[in-house]
Amino acid sequence: METIRKIVIVGGGTAGWMTAAALSKILGANYAEITLVESDDIGTVGVGEATIPQINIFNRLLGLKEDDFIRQTHGTFKLGIEFVDWARKGHSYFHPFGPYGFDMKGVSFHAFWQKLQTLGVSDSISDYNLQAVAAREGKFMRPVQVENSPLSTIAYAFHFDAGLYAKFLRRFSEGLGAQRIEGRIVSADKNAETGFLEAVVLGDGRRIEGDLFIDCSGFRGLLIGQQMGIDYEDWSKWLPNNRAWAVPTARVHDNQTPYTRSTAREAGWQWRIPLQHRTGNGYVFSNNFIDEQAAMDTLLQNLDAPPLKDPMLVKFQGGHRHKFWEKNVVAIGLSSGFMEPLESTSIHLIQVGIAKLLQMFPDKGFEQADINRYNRLSVLEYEYIRDFLVLHFNQTERDDSEYWRYCRNMELPPRLQEKYDLFRSRGRIFRENEELFNDTSWFAVMVGQGMTWRGYDPVADVMSDEDVKRQLFGIKDAIRKSSDYMPTHEDFIRANCAMEAPVEVMSQLA
Ligand SMILES: Cc1cc2nc3c(=O)[nH]c(=O)nc-3n(C[C@H](O)[C@H](O)[C@H](O)COP(=O)(O)OP(=O)(O)OC[C@H]3O[C@@H](n4cnc5c(N)ncnc54)[C@H](O)[C@@H]3O)c2cc1C
Repeated sequence: METIRKIVIVGGGTAGWMTAAALSKILGANYAEITLVESDDIGTVGVGEATIPQINIFNRLLGLKEDDFIRQTHGTFKLGIEFVDWARKGHSYFHPFGPYGFDMKGVSFHAFWQKLQTLGVSDSISDYNLQAVAAREGKFMRPVQVENSPLSTIAYAFHFDAGLYAKFLRRFSEGLGAQRIEGRIVSADKNAETGFLEAVVLGDGRRIEGDLFIDCSGFRGLLIGQQMGIDYEDWSKWLPNNRAWAVPTARVHDNQTPYTRSTAREAGWQWRIPLQHRTGNGYVFSNNFIDEQAAMDTLLQNLDAPPLKDPMLVKFQGGHRHKFWEKNVVAIGLSSGFMEPLESTSIHLIQVGIAKLLQMFPDKGFEQADINRYNRLSVLEYEYIRDFLVLHFNQTERDDSEYWRYCRNMELPPRLQEKYDLFRSRGRIFRENEELFNDTSWFAVMVGQGMTWRGYDPVADVMSDEDVKRQLFGIKDAIRKSSDYMPTHEDFIRANCAMEAPVEVMSQLA
């Protein structure tokens, strides 16, 4: 069967350029011609600035120099997410990257911690995670190879400027031969017999032919929805948020936290993402529970610096396309679906979409078995993430607004109840096969949101009470000392990957 020779990527947002970068790097210009079409008039969604550690896999695939990448995207480091006022007002907890302590004798660390809490000790699970402790103290460094030290396992992700990230990847992709075409797509040509797409057509009449089309056109779903007719599975009943106001503020010196902050509000939550040159803020909410004006006012009243621009409203609907891949069109990014940004999972889903596409890369025969597998795995990934998101909203003591009362009482997605039941009985967490979030994540959020358990996992009795105390206090101490050893986040950036000062600052210094 004939090899794919022409790949057309529609859209130049984060999804489009990540796809162009990865395909250019892996397949190369000799394998296939890669063309990306984007319209400056339409622009990109302009948000999406927090990531999870899996992005490091993508960066390694591209062979990026991390310091250059951070410098050019004005990025900062992220050790997890602080959740403020989620379980109840005045309460906060941290969902860290990296594990709590380490498993011993084949038993989960968290089981020993749960046992410890029955031994007259009451401490925070966060004390057993270096990322959480370092975040609290504004510290950051990359892992260093020291045997048996928590410093060797530091897990991190990034915050970056979405616009600069797309530009960065564009330079990267064009450097490897990808071609960019500026223009607005107004129609597409389909083969009347097979229903396969043959070309997209621009407003000026130009026709761009392809063998494989990747739809990265954002919420519009220009190809997957409008051309291929694939509908959207609406998950609003589980993910009721459907709007966000986003606004940048001036950078707050000495508050460049190495983590994202998420603060629960009356009808949603507010994000705070520190970058080197500014802070990103937004209020994600449901317009069924608060009107847009009131949500904007809430956001503007809760900023730690003056806004740099007028707030921008983004509308969305939680859910996904019934199929992510249909015939010769693969949807990646917002065109394929969206779950609200609470756990920064969209960029990860782009990366996973690309990875799966490469694993099941078609030839011109477009085997249906590959397409089916791609679609099945994509839906599963979405479902697992959705369940984890629902946990945050559903398990709360908050009942101070209609919104929170709805969330507390919502009908649960099928698999989530089982997770709750297992946790409530013996504090157990099981990661399903392809599930993104591991037991640390589930444990952090379940405990953080105030869930309780009837008894600890009986296997934790493989260690005596005294040994549990000794081991856990030892781990806590090692984590404390490791954090003490780490530089501040700001110092780390200054020493390694500070953005170049803008021209106007340079001229003032001259
Ligand atoms: C409020 C909010 C906050 C978010 N925060 C995060 C986060 O913290 N972390 C995270 O991982 N993700 C986050 N996301 C998701 C993230 O923003 C997206 O996954 C990411 O930006 C990818 O978007 P995209 O490239 O699919 O779409 P877009 O950025 O919308 O790009 C679409 C592209 O298609 C082009 N296009 C569209 N129509 C045409 C046409 N007719 N002709 C030519 N070109 C066309 C546009 O010009 C544009 O280049 C957030 C999303 C929202 C809504």
